[in-house]
Formats: sequence, C-alpha cells, structure tokens
Amino acid sequence: MRSAPGSVKPLQTNATPARRIKRQTIMNQATSPKINLLDFTSDGLKRFFQERGEKPFRATQIIKWIHQFNIDDYSKMTNVSKALRAELEAISEIRAPAIVLDKASSDGTHKWLLRLDDGNCIETVFIPEDGRGTLCVSSQVGCALDCTFCSTARQGFNRNLTVAEIIGQLWIAKKVLQPDPSSDRVISNVVMMGMGEPLLNYDNVVDAMTLMLDDNAYGLSKRRVTLSTSGVVPALDRLRKQIDVSLAISLHAPNDELRNQLVPINRKYPIKTLIDACLRYLDGKAGREKITIEYVMLHQVNDSDQHARELVRLLKDVPVKVNLIPFNPFPETRYARSSNNRIHRFREILEAANMITITRKTRGQDIDAACGQLAGEVNDKSRREIHFARIET
Ligand code: SAH
Repeated sequence: MRSAPGSVKPLQTNATPARRIKRQTIMNQATSPKINLLDFTSDGLKRFFQERGEKPFRATQIIKWIHQFNIDDYSKMTNVSKALRAELEAISEIRAPAIVLDKASSDGTHKWLLRLDDGNCIETVFIPEDGRGTLCVSSQVGCALDCTFCSTARQGFNRNLTVAEIIGQLWIAKKVLQPDPSSDRVISNVVMMGMGEPLLNYDNVVDAMTLMLDDNAYGLSKRRVTLSTSGVVPALDRLRKQIDVSLAISLHAPNDELRNQLVPINRKYPIKTLIDACLRYLDGKAGREKITIEYVMLHQVNDSDQHARELVRLLKDVPVKVNLIPFNPFPETRYARSSNNRIHRFREILEAANMITITRKTRGQDIDAACGQLAGEVNDKSRREIHFARIET
C-alpha cells in the first residue's frame, strides 16, 4: 500500500504559534469542509458553542458523547436537541484517522497503522501489562530530530499532527479495545512515545493531553499520562506552567560528548541545561514525583560500568527513576543491543547507588511495534530542515 503524495504546504520558519494553528486548520479544510469536533478541548468547544449562541453546557454533553461514549454519530446524542444535532451535522463531524492495518502481537501488543487525510500514515501501539494497559501515541508524521538509533528518525519529517489526529489515536484504540464504553477501563496509561517529538508540536500535544486528563473526556490521572522528550528545553519550561503530566527524558548518555552523537539536539540544549529544566519542572510538585530517565542500551556505545557510574554522578541530586531500554534493531542500523548480562550489570551499579531502575520489557517486536521501530509512512521526508529551524519557538 502506497500513500498519495502529501498535500501539505511547507510551514514557514517565521511562523508564530497562532499563525501555525491557523495554517493547520486551513490544511484540514482543504481535505474536508467540515469542522472536526475531535480538534476541540472542552474549553474550545464551549467557545465554539458560545460563538453560535448556544449554552456552554452543550459542550460538556458533546465532549462526553465523543470521548466517554466513543460516539461519532450525532443521531445517537439523545440528550441534545434535534435542532442542534441537525446544525452540528451540517457544519461539523467527528472524524478520527482511518485504520489501515490492525496487527496483534503474540504477546498481546496491538499496533495500528492509521491513514491521515493527506495520505500520510502514523502508528499507534497498545501494550497490555498486569493491571494496566498503555497506549503509545504519535505526535508527528516522522520526526525532525535525527537521533541516530531511532528508526522513526530515518523516516524524515513531514508535519505536525492535528489535535484530532493525536486524540483520535486514543479514540480509535478505545473503540476497538473497549467496545462497551461502560465496561472497565482498558487503556489506563498514555505515553507520548510514538513517532515524533511531542514538544515540537507543542500546542496540539498540550490540547490532546488536556483531553486525556479531562474528567468529561478520558479522565486519566496525571501520573498516567507521560510526555517523553529528547529535551526541547524552552518548551519544557512552558509545559510546566500549562499542564501537569509525568515527564520522561530520553537521555541515553551520561556526558555531552556521547549524547551529541546519539541525540543531536543535545548540541543545542546540553545535559546540564536539560537537567536544570527537569528540576524546574519538578519544583513545586509533590515530593513523590520523579522524572523517568530513558536510556537505550547500545552495545559498546553507552553501556560500560564507567558509563553507569558517570550516570550515577550526573543524576545523584535529581529525583529520577531510570528506564533501561534494550535497543530494538531495525534494518541497516549501525548499533546492536547490549547483552542481558551487560544490562544486568549496568542496572546493579545504578541500584547500588539507590537509583530506582527498571529494565523495560521488549514488547511487540514480532509486529515492529517496539520502541524506535515505529515508522509509519511518511510522504515527502524533506521537511526536517524547516522544522529544525523552528526549535527556538
Ligand atoms: N521524541 C520523543 C518520543 C519518541 S521516542 C523522545 O525522544 O523521547 C520514545 C522512546 O523510544 C525514546 O526514549 C527513544 O529514545 C526510544 N527509542 C528510539 N529508538 C529506539 C530503539 N531503536 N530501540 C529502543 N528504544 C528506542
């Protein structure tokens, strides 16, 4: 299956956030003339209704129908007047990306390939574990950040996802996994760890996470919604003032020299700058909160005893838990996974220094759904430079 050529207009480097949102809306309208209600937070929908002379409480009703009950058909919204339903039907729709492929792994992991209006495809993964179910959500078509060990990076970058495309992943996964919305919750956790760098699609990711936390929408606890970033420091500082979610940092190296090679954005925001931003992020939060440090274990690259000891020194004053991720290989990669013994020894050094350390289980590998294996189908992969130029914003 090949996608049609992308219809996305290049984003300009001097775009302000307001201008960017406008362009995104125009882009959606090019493919569908109707307003997609999946694009709205509760507050946004209240404003939308007020502008049309409707009572704001209508927004709460509709948000519940859409997100709690997974309804995309206005005729089923029985507590909304017929007149309003007809008006909504005429000007709007509730439209998530289309499922192209729905693969289940032998270990219960689920991966969806979703097609967007412009023909690009993205991936979303569900990982069931004892007592919880985690959905790994994408934030961009491809990624601009060129981390050398990540297969999404090799896809290049095309564009940011809209709010509807981000929250639409949760909407679809819930519809498939929990067909009876009143039954027990199947998706208990969301991690923004799919394709893309969430902090480079700041406004749309914040709106989507707002819906995840909203009691009238998904009502997930703030500890169960995690944003993972390679460290876009100015955006991290904005984030802490705007929304309270758990934070994961893709560190992967204990010093700048090595991290510059693995995670190139480190050249712009080196480790010390990033750690200071993490401490600011935690400032004022309950003492129990910790930042998750992600560390992919690369054979003979970042996995020696010395690297482990350096990591201990680096993080000794930061409340963290460390997540060691066995590297998931992909075709033509130059890296190999550290042996289980090596990962074990690395972990012992961290634990001896009282650092909470978890080795992430590799899941869904038979369907290419493991960390860093998400690739989707990205049209026109050449937009990395354009996007990179915007990192300052
Ligand atoms: N851009 C964000 C989120 C996407 S990556 C970030 O950098 O955090 C989600 C996690 O998977 C990150 O920690 C990333 O470094 C890790 N990852 C990427 N490629 C991987 C691979 N091939 N094997 C294991 N983990 C990988």
